[in-house]
Amino acid sequence: MSLKKRFLATLTAAAVSFSLTFGAPAAVEAASAGSLIGAGIAIGMQAAQLNAQINQKIKHYDETEEGRQELYDSFRQKYGVSEDPEYNALLDRVMANLTKGVAAVDPTINKKPYLYFVSKQNSINAACSMGHVMMVNAGTFKKITNEDEIAAIVGHEMGHGQKNHVAKSNKKRLQKEVTAAIAGTAVGATIGGGQLTSIITQVALNHSVAHGDRKHETEADLLGFEYMTHTKYNPGACAAVMQKFVEMEIGSKQSGAAAFFNPSDHPDSAKRRDTYVKKLYEFSKNHVTAKNGVITVNNKTLIKVAAADGMSSAERSYFVLGNLASAYHHGQNKHAATVENGTVMLGNQPIIQPAEGDESAQVIADRLNAIK
Ligand SMILES: [Zn+2]
Repeated sequence: MSLKKRFLATLTAAAVSFSLTFGAPAAVEAASAGSLIGAGIAIGMQAAQLNAQINQKIKHYDETEEGRQELYDSFRQKYGVSEDPEYNALLDRVMANLTKGVAAVDPTINKKPYLYFVSKQNSINAACSMGHVMMVNAGTFKKITNEDEIAAIVGHEMGHGQKNHVAKSNKKRLQKEVTAAIAGTAVGATIGGGQLTSIITQVALNHSVAHGDRKHETEADLLGFEYMTHTKYNPGACAAVMQKFVEMEIGSKQSGAAAFFNPSDHPDSAKRRDTYVKKLYEFSKNHVTAKNGVITVNNKTLIKVAAADGMSSAERSYFVLGNLASAYHHGQNKHAATVENGTVMLGNQPIIQPAEGDESAQVIADRLNAIK
């Protein structure tokens, strides 16, 4: 294929993928082969210059207030903005709490606070782009009513944001996609600067959402957990929400259902849950774990947690595990387990408020004292 043809094919492919996923007819038209021929192909830009241009574009979206705002506006336009007062108030609260939690671990958040909104989308999903631009779908709030679990989801997104995952993978992707058309030639070639900028912009916007790179996903999960441990939220919520996805068959390979993140891009929910359970065990200084709804303290069974509060036994057990892990982490296990207003306490840490199907608070407290 001639250079010109090859380059046009690449650009057209970029335009097509753009139209499918981003749906901006005007921009696609601008990048059509016809107009590119009209614009002509100039010769002479070196790969290094191209990379510089790509880096500059990414820097614009990721680091400048103007670029961040552009991205934020394009997201709001693309996905729609939910004005639901309940969802918005909840997200405001979660963001305020988590921003403090993140700042305790990574103070750079203070220089680049998140631009976030509730999107109108009905699927359970959340996304973080360059420039700390983030959205949580209305469908997430509809189907997940527990604030701690919402925080676990948002914490994962902020992990992507704090580590600039989208900018990093976009840089690689853009370099690959755009330089592929030029790098193969002896002379080096390019199209007009304005056209190139427009192509880069499209690819950058098209691939503007995190999720995809396994290493990034694992890092975001672990960071999300760490942020949660620096808030008042229950760190067990990370495992609990994954358990919920397992039960909803989201993130399993068999699932065709609407996905939390993109199931094909994420390790499956059961594996992520198990990783979080391991983190909770470490957080408890190797004292507490849970499996299939059964809580184990120092390798001895404490309780089988009943299904309650709209949760299965397993999902609810991770909240109990989170409470126990926090108690051990903060040295509350030096104090006795007691019962206060029907709630089992370990020191000053509430552990479980028994529901129908659970053993009584006193029975649980006595057993905890015997094995802790
Ligand atoms: Zn992710």
